[in-house]
Amino acid sequence: MRRQEARRGRAGTGLATVGGGLVAASALLYGLPSLATFRGLRTAVAPALAGVGRADHVALTFDDGPDPASTPSFLEVLDELDVRATFFVLGGMAQRSPGLVREMAAAGHELAVHGWDHRPMLLRGPMSTYDQLARTRDLLAETTGRAPRYVRPPHGVLSSGVLAASHRLGLTPVLWTAWGRDWTATATASNVLATIEPDLRGGATVLLHDSDCTSAPGAWRSALGALPELAARCDDAGLQLGPLAEHGLRPYA
Ligand SMILES: [Zn+2]
Repeated sequence: MRRQEARRGRAGTGLATVGGGLVAASALLYGLPSLATFRGLRTAVAPALAGVGRADHVALTFDDGPDPASTPSFLEVLDELDVRATFFVLGGMAQRSPGLVREMAAAGHELAVHGWDHRPMLLRGPMSTYDQLARTRDLLAETTGRAPRYVRPPHGVLSSGVLAASHRLGLTPVLWTAWGRDWTATATASNVLATIEPDLRGGATVLLHDSDCTSAPGAWRSALGALPELAARCDDAGLQLGPLAEHGLRPYA
């Protein structure tokens, strides 16, 4: 009941027709020169790489946290909605808030690797790239007692260094198929929902942000405000909203 009430708290309009292409295509193209060196990899794993999962499931993912100024609000709303999500965290942020990281894991959310900081991986050499991912993975494993499974590099840049480091670390790279452009200064709950909607379908991976540490101040409130209606639209369409762990992705690493 509690879950239904929370989801119906906002006026639901039902799921509109889904359509449009993969948002992650732009990120994949950005990383194409490096991906192209892996012969056959692009076509073999590109759907999984973009986060296309089970037909009856939508993966909910957040980047750039954890942030004590905003992440607790997300935990509260997700708890009210009875929804679990995947958080791609920055190691530098996680190091400053270990208690918050433990709280996220204890609430059943999945923690995954974004990077130690947010500098694009294309600006790094192979050792620095490996170090970014390894340090963040190790910190999450130490803090939560559980090794993360997924990685999404800052800006979705899948350099050859990221792919090689991910493979060594046993991390599966996952981008996204839908985003809310929730990082902009003009983002609101309703325009975030409108941006997601064309790509909201079974198998989608939705990218939002639980922190404004790399975006417009307070932008996270747009993503937070969009959550109840996003959950209601998935419910209406018979889609389960949850973490990547339940998305049915094939492991790449
Ligand atoms: Zn990010």
